Amino acid sequence: MTTQSLLILPGDGIGPEVMTEVRKVIGWFGENAGLSFDVSEDLVGGAAYDAHGTPLTDATMARAQEADAVLLGAVGGPKYDDLDFSLKPERGLLRLRKEMDLYANLRPAQCFDALADFSSLKPDVVGGLDIMIVRELTSGVYFGEPRGIIKEGNERVGINTQRYTESEIARVARSAFELARKRDNKVCSMEKANVMESGVLWRDVVTEVHAAEYPDVELSHMYADAGAMQLTRWPKQFDVIVTDNLFGDLLSDLAAMLTGSLGMLPSASLGAPMANGRPKALYEPVHGSAPDIAGQGKANPIACILSFAMALRYSFDQGDAATKLEQAVEAVLADGLRTADLMGPTGGTPVSTSEMGDAVVAKLSLG
Ligand code: NAD
Repeated sequence: MTTQSLLILPGDGIGPEVMTEVRKVIGWFGENAGLSFDVSEDLVGGAAYDAHGTPLTDATMARAQEADAVLLGAVGGPKYDDLDFSLKPERGLLRLRKEMDLYANLRPAQCFDALADFSSLKPDVVGGLDIMIVRELTSGVYFGEPRGIIKEGNERVGINTQRYTESEIARVARSAFELARKRDNKVCSMEKANVMESGVLWRDVVTEVHAAEYPDVELSHMYADAGAMQLTRWPKQFDVIVTDNLFGDLLSDLAAMLTGSLGMLPSASLGAPMANGRPKALYEPVHGSAPDIAGQGKANPIACILSFAMALRYSFDQGDAATKLEQAVEAVLADGLRTADLMGPTGGTPVSTSEMGDAVVAKLSLG
């Protein structure tokens, strides 16, 4: 078997701190489960700016294009606030997403039982929740032309254009159906076909791709506003939700917050299949560089650890290892171990970033 390559970009703030814990996990799988990766590291964001005067060098971009998967910590920080827009740390991340053409953004909303009290919803509504939102990331109203603010007579008019081609819809629909096959085999597609032509086309194309290529997957459709209501009423009815860039932005944030802390949320952004059949992929926690707690050993490393679990499942085809890692996280939380962000109403044993990482690795050894 050829060794798979993983490019690690720790970034700024708490990025390098949480990545240290992921390295422990990677080390465990190498030593105990025969899973070794060709791991390399590079700079992104403010760290790259400090070293090279740019938030992402061409050389790093080229390495990311060649890697089987990229795992990023976080970028940004107050030190870089006054930089020109083109040099800001976030531009490095945006360049990665754009040049790798990562059109499917995966945001899981998973509620570990031990943290059900954290949700604003009742524990029985969110306990055991496990859904995946697939958001189209590179088209739609955030990119459509014409756009801008123009003058019409005496007043200004703000314009953005929702635009989707058939192929843009079809490729993200395929991502959702492929994912569903690895999960509970259900996809719900959300748009506003009742009031938007782009929504009518979205529904048609998703239906066509389903009939032609994925008839084994259960498909339903829902208007996105009704979907938002259903997500808060009974989220467990969903498995995979696929939706456009704008609705996905809103629905994925809503779904993520059903489950509690920012420090728990992983994500993946996937692109077209590479020569090995697996998608180009960037994995990263949803949170930022958290300058308010950086350097204090307070960061929760679980979002980054779970992002690596997603890489195991979706880039390295190691679903069993991913499940084992997720179960280790669940077991640590069930034991009551809590980084500061998780110290909620039910209390728990306070632990630092590295103690949390060590505890996850210890659980891997037990399982
Ligand atoms: P943030 O996600 O960094 O922090 C928001 C709050 O959540 C803070 O109070 C922080 O302490 C807390 N938090 C975040 N992650 C945590 C973790 N793992 N453990 C415990 N607590 C955690 O968002 P922000 O404060 O709006 O932004 C800070 C910087 O990060 C900015 O420069 C912003 O541009 C950047 N940012 C980067 C990304 C990214 O790299 N993908 C995403 C969002 C923000």
